[in-house]
Amino acid sequence: MAQFRKNLIDGEWVGDAGSRNINPSDTGDVVGEYASAGVDQARQAIAAAKAAFPAWSRSGPLARHAVLKKASDEIMARKDEIGRNLAREEGKTLAEGIGETIRAAQIFDFFAGETLRLSGEVVPSVRPGVGVEITREAVGVVGIITPWNFPIAIPAWKIAPALAHGNTIVFKPAELVPESAWSIVDILHRAGLPKGVLNLVMGKGSVVGQAMLDSPDVNAISFTGSVGTGKRVAAASVEHMRKFQLEMGGKNPLVVLDDADLAVAVDCALNGAFFSTGQRCTASSRLIVTDAIHDRFVDALKERMDKLVIGDALDAQTQIGPVVDATQLKQDEDYIAIGVREGATLAFGGERLDRKTPGFYLKPALLTGATNAMRSSREEIFGPVASVIRVKDYDEALAVANDTPFGLTSGICTSSLKHATHFKRNSEAGMVMVNLPTAGVDFHVPFGGRKGSSYGPREQGRYAMEFYTTVKTAYTFAG
Ligand code: NAD
Repeated sequence: MAQFRKNLIDGEWVGDAGSRNINPSDTGDVVGEYASAGVDQARQAIAAAKAAFPAWSRSGPLARHAVLKKASDEIMARKDEIGRNLAREEGKTLAEGIGETIRAAQIFDFFAGETLRLSGEVVPSVRPGVGVEITREAVGVVGIITPWNFPIAIPAWKIAPALAHGNTIVFKPAELVPESAWSIVDILHRAGLPKGVLNLVMGKGSVVGQAMLDSPDVNAISFTGSVGTGKRVAAASVEHMRKFQLEMGGKNPLVVLDDADLAVAVDCALNGAFFSTGQRCTASSRLIVTDAIHDRFVDALKERMDKLVIGDALDAQTQIGPVVDATQLKQDEDYIAIGVREGATLAFGGERLDRKTPGFYLKPALLTGATNAMRSSREEIFGPVASVIRVKDYDEALAVANDTPFGLTSGICTSSLKHATHFKRNSEAGMVMVNLPTAGVDFHVPFGGRKGSSYGPREQGRYAMEFYTTVKTAYTFAG
């Protein structure tokens, strides 16, 4: 019997109408059944968060520290179990699922520390006898809307700073990954959060998410997901004059120069393009390679792709799990076909694979002879599909890398200090990697992009404070 998980509203577990969550490695395996909130429950959750805000925002740092630290400890202690469920519901490998769970624990630990580091400034006024204090205050009710591809890390990096800085939360996770979301909320609830401080509303984006966008009582929204939904969040937030932060898609370039260490470049491409089944906003979907290394690079990459073990996410040998669901699988296949129609060559993979259990298995695909004008090079595919774009030199590589509506991450593989330095300064991306995959970031430093990839203040690390607090300047004349 699959578990039935309820929503958390005002400190009570509620809801009955359930939706099922299917394991993409084995569609016969039901991970669980989950309550599906409607508009009324979303409104109740918002009201509960509003009512809980005055007390929580005035709670001392020690109370917040205690909850966040306890949650971090429990997530870490249960990393194998939670990581396994994550791999089961999302399809990333067991190692990746456990790794992501450890990351969530580290994020809660980091923000537990942040509660004890709150600071302000006292500065003299330009007017004699007047003092000025600059402090930060919580924003209010924060709506947190998350995608399916990092089921625990993304909720963690939004919920932890929101709580650390004294906000209350209405959390709406993606429909495909409710188990990880439920676990994190259950842990925080039992860690001692007062009722109403954190509310979970699993359900449809068009219903529950939309109710959050439409509410004047949601003071800020932190959203990660597709560009299309992000634009809706932006438009609705402007309507209500609320703070919002968007993390959206990517079409991240990995530049490989003639002077690159071939083994390093192939490692970066393999990891960046195909690990986590390519379902990362930071995936390297455009491999921009200069002439003299191009053929060696493509041959070596195909050789490594051929050795990848694609299979059930829970098998210890698996390196690439299934695609998350049937819709995403079709999207991946459609983009491969579009690339070929536009003139690229399918140099490797791209076909569905049969495994012991029915699932959404796709052999990672490499398109060569691609140009940057093709749709497959311009639009986010969000699967294990990468295009190789051949260029003559570094200057052309940089121009192609920057010629995209997105700007999340970028990377360069080179042994030239001159080119690495120039690329770091001139790449139009929020995060730049040298001799590293475009995916894979630290939790204590800012995360975010430019152009169509991101909007608003950065997430993670100390920079998260910018979004989850608002600045107050107070003047005092003491006579
Ligand atoms: P999505 O936009 O379909 O859904 C994201 C969330 O928005 C889900 O919880 C969904 O239910 C909700 N939603 C849908 N309609 C809504 C509405 N009308 N009102 C409010 N909420 C609504 O995205 P997805 O398919 O879950 O995630 C994949 C996308 O996320 C990709 O584009 C990927 O690049 C992006 N992503 C970005 C980052 C980043 O940090 N830049 C990280 C991970 C994923």
